[in-house]
Amino acid sequence: MKNMKNILSLLVLALFISEIHGQKPQDTEDWSRKPNVVTPGEKNKPPSDAIVLYSGKQDLINWVQEKGGPVKWDADTFLTVVGKTGNIKTIKSFGDVQLHIEWRSPLKIIGNGQNRGNSGIYFMLEYELQILDSWENETYTNGFAGSIYKQFGPLVNASLQPGQWQTYDVIFTAPRFNEDKTLKSPAYITLIHNGILVQNHTELKGQTENIGKPAYKFHEDKLPLMLQDHNCSVSYRNIWIREL
Ligand code: MG
Repeated sequence: MKNMKNILSLLVLALFISEIHGQKPQDTEDWSRKPNVVTPGEKNKPPSDAIVLYSGKQDLINWVQEKGGPVKWDADTFLTVVGKTGNIKTIKSFGDVQLHIEWRSPLKIIGNGQNRGNSGIYFMLEYELQILDSWENETYTNGFAGSIYKQFGPLVNASLQPGQWQTYDVIFTAPRFNEDKTLKSPAYITLIHNGILVQNHTELKGQTENIGKPAYKFHEDKLPLMLQDHNCSVSYRNIWIREL
């Protein structure tokens, strides 16, 4: 009973203090928007509002070769790079996105360094998030799996052995440009590789360059997502994207 009295006294005091300052708890409640209901997918399957980019051969309608025309990669069971056919890109264009993608390096190790299980995800055709077989494979840090290629290495190496499926969950923020085509705000990438954070809201220095320093060059607000043919038989499955 005494406790109850104490609690009541405290409540009255709290009310009194908030009234003194002319503020109520309700003043800081946001009722302006009701978040849309999205049903999560089980076991990495797409949530209800995702765009499925690849779950099987039927989804090839979402893709074309970088230079146009039907996809030349092998898409029977998984989407597998056929070396020297070229990069592939989505038909649809995207800006800010959440991307889920699963990939696998070839079980049989061929080559080393950058020639071992190399592929990549290009956001907006310009910004490469590296895919590489980084299991006991020496190369430069900003060329590892999970690197923003030639810019930032991953925080840790979360790679699995070749032949195993790996997951990338990415949050990509597109750069913004001013009307005079100068940079307004840079691009950012957050990457969770196999459940482990390896890029934490990393600010990109510009478009990916293999030679020379990266810099931003004006482009459209939305552009396709592209997968790289680096002449290694990397496979993909369960690719879905959410526009943010
Ligand atoms: Mg690459």
